[in-house]
Amino acid sequence: MKTFNTQFQPRLSIVFISLAVLFQLNCAEPTPQEQARRVLEDAAEAMGGLEALRNIENISREGNAQRSSLGQARVTSERLLVGSPSPYRKVIDFTVPRELNLSGEREIIQVADAKKGGYRSVQGRALRALEPWQMDRYQTEWDRDIAKFLVHALGDDSTLEDYSRVDIDDKPYHVVDVRFIDGLLYKVYMGHGTDVIWKLEFTEDRNPYGDLAKERIFDHYLEVGNITLPFSETTKEMDEITQALEWSVITINQDLPEDRFQIPTEASLADRAQSLLQADTLPVVPTELAPGVYFGESVSMNNMWVEFDDFVLVAEGPNNEMQSLEVIRQIRETVGDKPIRYLVTTHHHADHTGGIRTYAAEGATVITHANNEAIIREILTRPHTLKPDRLSQSQQEPQIETVEDRRTITDGTRTVELLHVPNAHADGYLAIYLPRERLIFQSDMLSILQGETGDPVLRPYTKEFYDAVRQAGWRVDRIVPGHGRLADWSELAEALQSAE
Ligand SMILES: [Zn+2]
Repeated sequence: MKTFNTQFQPRLSIVFISLAVLFQLNCAEPTPQEQARRVLEDAAEAMGGLEALRNIENISREGNAQRSSLGQARVTSERLLVGSPSPYRKVIDFTVPRELNLSGEREIIQVADAKKGGYRSVQGRALRALEPWQMDRYQTEWDRDIAKFLVHALGDDSTLEDYSRVDIDDKPYHVVDVRFIDGLLYKVYMGHGTDVIWKLEFTEDRNPYGDLAKERIFDHYLEVGNITLPFSETTKEMDEITQALEWSVITINQDLPEDRFQIPTEASLADRAQSLLQADTLPVVPTELAPGVYFGESVSMNNMWVEFDDFVLVAEGPNNEMQSLEVIRQIRETVGDKPIRYLVTTHHHADHTGGIRTYAAEGATVITHANNEAIIREILTRPHTLKPDRLSQSQQEPQIETVEDRRTITDGTRTVELLHVPNAHADGYLAIYLPRERLIFQSDMLSILQGETGDPVLRPYTKEFYDAVRQAGWRVDRIVPGHGRLADWSELAEALQSAE
């Protein structure tokens, strides 16, 4: 050992010197965190400076929007229901924060206020208070609005984690990893030379998918007073473009139309909005339609549960886990602790499947039309690491059973019939019928919102549904809806008749 030491001494000292040089070089080189801060500060400078961005109290944007809804296509082989371009008009007041959204072809008003809650009003239809998850989404969007993103990213509540450089299409980019104030990790891309933010990349939790990969791309930076802002913003979800915004006018710090931000007090809307704001549960009001058959009515989405001798069948698992947990609590109150054996989905759309995972976690088998098998399996098996839900925390292996044309579920006393109703809304659609009780559960075929007056809104597929039910020879007295209030079959018949 000694000889070795002596032999290697000169070489070792060379190593030590090299290490010392390297160490000195390292000290001179900024750390990845310092580099990250520098390029973000450059980006802020290119947009008019951090101080100017901080001083943005409100921003109004007008232009055009092209929106497509993820998980709402007619066929399950496609991800998107592609919307048509529509006018965009939105004011965000960062001081509260709150926003007024007057976008859309029809007269739609949507107000979201972090202190008062929110509501949505569509011309001719009932006013609706916004649910807790919707308010959370607003807060997230206000924080990551491109006018404010750098203020938060460089603030004390965010952490700059890393810096790197990448080439995309032969163009070099600075990339900064930020643990943002919303707790999510954002990859922020800035082009060399332009300095401004080109793209944000992040993964967020979204029903019914769980971890959802998202990108937001900014373009057409122009001056608005002393600030430079993008006039184009494109959002991709799961690699599909779900929103493309092109703005023609952006105004900063204008006088706000205070009256338009108010939530109407009619039908205690303001109270409902306020109480939903911080609710940790979603109200579900059970109505007993027949012995052992319950309609579970919530804010915007409903379902139904049916008691059999040894088990419970649930029609539809809509919205999210918050609603499912409340429905399950109501099931325990109304029919006791019989196992929930079946959860039947009417169709694959995201709003009607957002809560099915909670039932699968309870051990329920999900029954769906054969066309939906792959998408339902995907929903039941996708990773939920950002916001672990009951299913991801349970050891349950999700069970799916499919229906091609018809299926009868009976224990001799109670009978539930399932029927495939081909229609233009969704290509794997099941109607759920209780022959003895003469009730039918359906979603989206007929939705009469609570408090809505005038003729029910008829869709092209409402008639397809009506015809399919008549052709099946089903005798229906009452319609139990996935959205809106209970209706009589005669209301549907009369509405179709007067529309002819
Ligand atoms: Zn639908």
